[in-house]
Amino acid sequence: MSHEIKTVAVIGSGTMGAGIAEVAAAAGHDVLLFDINQDALTRAIDGIRQRLTSRVSRGKLSAEACERTLKKIYAVADIASLAPANLVIEAASERLEVKKALFSQLAEICPPQTLLTSNTSSISITAIAADVRFPERVAGLHFFNPAPVMKLVEVVSGLATSPEVAETLCNCVAAWGKKPVRCRSTPGFIVNRIARPFYAEAWRALEEQVATPEVIDSSLREGGGFPMGPLALTDMIGHDVNFAVTSSVFNAFWQDRRFLPSLLQQELVLGGRLGKKSGQGVYRWPVEAVSDPYLSAVSAVPGEITENGDSVTIDDLLLIETQGETALALAMRHQRPVVVFDRIEGDVVVLAAAQTNVQADTDQAVHYFQQQGKKVLQIADYPGLLVWRTVAMLANEALDAVQKHVASEQDIDTAMRLGVNYPKGPLQWGAELGWQNVLRVLENLQAHYGEERYRPSSLLRQRALLENHHE
Ligand code: NAD
Repeated sequence: MSHEIKTVAVIGSGTMGAGIAEVAAAAGHDVLLFDINQDALTRAIDGIRQRLTSRVSRGKLSAEACERTLKKIYAVADIASLAPANLVIEAASERLEVKKALFSQLAEICPPQTLLTSNTSSISITAIAADVRFPERVAGLHFFNPAPVMKLVEVVSGLATSPEVAETLCNCVAAWGKKPVRCRSTPGFIVNRIARPFYAEAWRALEEQVATPEVIDSSLREGGGFPMGPLALTDMIGHDVNFAVTSSVFNAFWQDRRFLPSLLQQELVLGGRLGKKSGQGVYRWPVEAVSDPYLSAVSAVPGEITENGDSVTIDDLLLIETQGETALALAMRHQRPVVVFDRIEGDVVVLAAAQTNVQADTDQAVHYFQQQGKKVLQIADYPGLLVWRTVAMLANEALDAVQKHVASEQDIDTAMRLGVNYPKGPLQWGAELGWQNVLRVLENLQAHYGEERYRPSSLLRQRALLENHHE
């Protein structure tokens, strides 16, 4: 069956629908934009015009291209007008009954070869397609917000989706300048599933009062290389939206403890502290000048330094890269003062001291790093600190998705780099850190908390064994 795509229909002209319509029109398609709400349609067309003319005034787009794109978008007030479309992208409300009703209507209105897709973030494509005639042409086309800017599109196959349809959709969005990744219809698809620990570990740190929000965010941003700290990011996304996605993934996985939502974030939602859009979330918005989270310079009595792989000794003090144990546990085992530090990207070090250390011991460690030109953040004695435990959890989640054939390794790494701008794909990151090290951090966290949340994926165990074998 041929799937030449000339006319694209977009259903729902809200945030996503308007952006997708703009992308398809800019790529040269005739676009039929439909919404049940006439005001929403008018707002969408006005919004697209404003965005494009602002690009013209900034010299990023020619006036001709702007006019050409605008002329390609036809607002329609009747779903029957979508009959000529070769591809339909539904971006209406995130409710299964709304989507099922729309797809049944579409199956009546459109010929059997019309591709029917949904931009859903969380609803099963298999469920949407269940009652549709010719369900092999139904797929997910999950754009990211803002659609004209974000490169990634998850092309989602349900049980009935034909490989040829997925292929056609990948080619189509690639021609629109997007980067398609393929995945199976599973809760959260790729990005919204694998990203969960990035938020969850920060909420846990805040709940356990390990550090201030500024220190937690700086650790991940400066120490981990993430473009934003998780707490500031959820303030931007909106806690209602972020908490709803977390809860939806948690429930869709039969309440697997790995995805447990945070009570603290729920409290913000209940209190209407939704983040930037409500003026307050974790932070007050607009964010006032924040205090410098780094330790000021300390002086220390020079000690004898011995560097030894992952650890350093300064006189009696043991300075060791975290492996998921607390500094206190290590201090008890080694019968000496211990400071643990996090995985370091760039010029920042995050460290935690055993409660049994005297201040002069900890000062030695701070001084040691400051002498090397590093900026030092100190948090409470938290196993796996912040960057290490977050990256270990992300890599573990990515391996679980690989094992369950959600997507290919390459597509998972691409999705996390382009969908949420991680500095590295979690699988590449895990391999670089070493699978045995990732496994050890998770096993230690699991032992410490006695919680299933840190359960290593069975593929992680296999990778760790193979790493041993190859050495
Ligand atoms: P939105 O609320 O901004 O817009 C939804 C639009 O759909 C509204 O204008 C509404 O009038 C219209 N609508 C509702 N029912 C309709 C129907 N039966 N027929 C025609 N139009 C109808 O929502 P949004 O944020 O653009 O989200 C749309 C879809 O995209 C959802 O499925 C959502 O999960 C998904 N999504 C959202 C984002 C995001 O960041 N906002 C990102 C990716 C995917």
